[in-house]
Amino acid sequence: MKYFFLTAVMFVGFKTILYAQSASTPLTALQTIELIKQHVQPQWFDTRTDTIITGNGSDTLKGIATCMFIDMNILQQAVAANCNMIITHEPTFYNANDNPPDFMKEDKVLKEKMDYINEHRLIIFRFHDNAHRNRPDQVMQGLADDLGWKVVNQSPWILEVKKQKLSALAKNLEKHFNTEGIRVTGDPDLEISRLALVPGLAPTLQMHLGALQRDDVDAILVGEAREWEDYIYARDATEQGKKKAAIFIGHMHSEEPGMKYCADWLQTFIKNVPVRFLKDENFWWSPK
Ligand SMILES: [Zn+2]
Repeated sequence: MKYFFLTAVMFVGFKTILYAQSASTPLTALQTIELIKQHVQPQWFDTRTDTIITGNGSDTLKGIATCMFIDMNILQQAVAANCNMIITHEPTFYNANDNPPDFMKEDKVLKEKMDYINEHRLIIFRFHDNAHRNRPDQVMQGLADDLGWKVVNQSPWILEVKKQKLSALAKNLEKHFNTEGIRVTGDPDLEISRLALVPGLAPTLQMHLGALQRDDVDAILVGEAREWEDYIYARDATEQGKKKAAIFIGHMHSEEPGMKYCADWLQTFIKNVPVRFLKDENFWWSPK
């Protein structure tokens, strides 16, 4: 694992030399990453996350796939679609820095996944921090576009929806994302017209409760949260008769539209390699 990571870092070091290739020849992974860096607005930031996770950066690309979570199913979809570069928003190897801890070094699940990636010579690039820092934030804009609601504020992101009861809104969202297990806190009859977006696993309490406490926000639409934060706050507010609610749609559903947005964005400047978005399948179920 370490070997692949170091190899990737080495190749990134050679990027300027490798980029001297003509624009008409097929792109390598490193050239593609260089193009991405040039197109992030206002500018690319080097971060710990946004790097080649595994694979050979100087390989020529046959196709590029973007995805939210990179599981075995996505790997197989990418291979079937002839995409040898996968741009994923979240980690591949089950932890934040994609560097397995000691107890995972001999893990059979991890090994089989790694073997599949190597056997098919897949290059995996993580695009996380710069997707959020881009102008606009690709994850927020992708989710807003996907919902089709009017954006009324961008810091925090607040969307206006046709006024409806919380119960109806939650049902509509469940249908929209074709998922089971949406969680809701708040009075089902509460009328909702403005929601703040808190997709993914937003790292600070302020991003969650700071948005919900605003007078112009009825509810927050959350990816995942600690139960003793958003859930209990919204429940306390409801018991105090305050009109506040929270809807939890899961990390994947809340951020996945951002990676569809990313695929569309890549196609505006990557012309000689096909780019496609791969959709994650639901990865949990609830008893009926
Ligand atoms: Zn994210």
